[in-house]
Amino acid sequence: MQREKTRVLAAFGHPDDEGQVTGTLAAYIAAGHQVTLVCGTRGEVGEISDPSLATPETLGWVRELELRASMAQVGLTDVRFLPHRDSGMDGTPENEDPDCLHQQPAELVVGELVEIIRDTRPNIVFTWDPNGGYGHPDHIAMHKHTVAAFDAAGDAQTYPSAGLVWSPQRLYWGARAMKTFASIWMEMEERGLLPEPMDKERRDQLEKALAEPDPVASLIVDTAEFQEARGAASSMHKSQFGENSMFSSIPDDLRQRFFGEERFFQARPKWPAGAEAETSPPWIEPGAGKPFFELRQYRCWPGQQENWVKYMHETVIPFQVSRGMVVTASWTSPEEDDLYVWIRRFDSEMERVRLYEAVYESDEWRNEIGPRVSDMLDRDRTKVTRLVATGASPSR
Ligand SMILES: [Zn+2]
Repeated sequence: MQREKTRVLAAFGHPDDEGQVTGTLAAYIAAGHQVTLVCGTRGEVGEISDPSLATPETLGWVRELELRASMAQVGLTDVRFLPHRDSGMDGTPENEDPDCLHQQPAELVVGELVEIIRDTRPNIVFTWDPNGGYGHPDHIAMHKHTVAAFDAAGDAQTYPSAGLVWSPQRLYWGARAMKTFASIWMEMEERGLLPEPMDKERRDQLEKALAEPDPVASLIVDTAEFQEARGAASSMHKSQFGENSMFSSIPDDLRQRFFGEERFFQARPKWPAGAEAETSPPWIEPGAGKPFFELRQYRCWPGQQENWVKYMHETVIPFQVSRGMVVTASWTSPEEDDLYVWIRRFDSEMERVRLYEAVYESDEWRNEIGPRVSDMLDRDRTKVTRLVATGASPSR
């Protein structure tokens, strides 16, 4: 069976913002999936690291080329730009420019992003966190507009001329651990590696970052495997990070610590508070394209087993099967009068996610079928085990 491709869209504000997700995008591309990057501006008003590379007039074009060259290092060729100018930092004159991203009406930018979502049909969308990392107006704008576009793209009533509706399945935003970043600066200072001595303002900032808890991450991707490609990608942003910049002088061991993992928060569907973070980006875990079984063992409340069996066979299983679920067997045990076991089969991890959504996110499940389950089952004792057929297994 041909494995279905996962499609990923990453939406950020400036060339180099994508650094927080480059390793993860590289992992998707290496696994044969399809990735699009959309950049809200061309970073026209950033500082120029070396005057021989660009002038304020050419900087937008230079940064566009740098971003394309950078993404080519990880095999990402679909790079798109929104037609807006870099807004610069709060309080600067560029921030008042009527052409800048931050000054555009939400409806316009959301419409542009809805059109890109409907065109590329992503399963997964990555963007800036609500604070845009450190509050840059363009980062915050891309966060707000991308979240709104994620929600609007599947609604045929909104932006009817922006293409056929499409609902992406998951939305993530960055959950970078600033503590790690701060500790690297501190350690570089200790080792005498900073290009310039640290001033008091910077030191206070770093100490504050070190004292704060890390933001909640629901997905922590080990990107060590893509370290080299991601380093090559980042080195293409020459007009931003010159040879003498702090970034260029980070030694390898510290670089590994900072860039060895990428952290995200799952915003759609809502991540259950306190749940343990996932470590594989959705749909590219090893074996993601292979079929497997899911063994579910339930414990009924005393005296409820008979009711549960009836409920399963008259309501739960028929409903799930009507949504495409494949149920291969179910059992009770003459030895344990509270036990109920059943098995479902999935063609792939992607198919499992699709079916879970079709079943557990449906109104019927949420409002009618689901709420009755805890009357019969002790859900704390539910055990779910994924099983992969061995070579000799007659059923697979
Ligand atoms: Zn930026």
